[in-house]
Amino acid sequence: MKFQGILETLNAFFYPSFCLHCETRIYGKRPLLCKECQTLIEWVESSLTCDCCGKMKSSQLQPLCFTCRKQPVSLMPYGSCLTFGGPAYSLYYRLRAYEDEMIAKLFASFLVLKWKKLGFPFPEVIIPLPESRLEIFSYKHQPSYLIGKKLALLFCTRFKPILKIEEEKGKEPTYPLKRSSRASISNRSVLLVTAIHRKNEPLIAAKESVLSLSPKAIYTLALFDKRSSF
Ligand SMILES: [Zn+2]
Ligand SMILES: [Zn+2]
Repeated sequence: MKFQGILETLNAFFYPSFCLHCETRIYGKRPLLCKECQTLIEWVESSLTCDCCGKMKSSQLQPLCFTCRKQPVSLMPYGSCLTFGGPAYSLYYRLRAYEDEMIAKLFASFLVLKWKKLGFPFPEVIIPLPESRLEIFSYKHQPSYLIGKKLALLFCTRFKPILKIEEEKGKEPTYPLKRSSRASISNRSVLLVTAIHRKNEPLIAAKESVLSLSPKAIYTLALFDKRSSF
């Protein structure tokens, strides 16, 4: 056995790794998913999304989704990367449970690809959308925060977690500005980042809050779109 082969055997012995989705044994330098699971990651195709709210449409022939045909919900400019579930969700779950830096960076890279595809301008400020504090207590441990921070590093731009969340039972959450960080975003292009887009109302509320600081424009990117297709 050659020296390289011995090293690889020792590596596999001391650092066995498994696909985070199907748990098949995999080899190499910390791969996250097996090859088959990698191919199962499903991207949101922009041509199949509603022109108004960005949600997946039931029919490619219609420019708007069923909801927007009845009452338009304007979220543009907006884009989401992945459909919810499957191997991508296993990665997300891992990020949420262990704050895995490598996964945060991978997801941030996905968002960069989407940003490029959509032709959004360079983000001068990146703001993460806070997630429910009932699930994860500290803002700094939330997936949106971790992904947004990595995204700001990739873009070499400002990361400003200026929103907090206020939740009341039976009501939609609100996103007031944190008092401590009166960051100047006036006349700057803002990119609002969320890990999972579940409902439109919270995003609209967060955008209103950011708008009060007079940015040049607000663009939104979501890693997952969990809204129903119809
Ligand atoms: Zn797998
Ligand atoms: Zn729509």
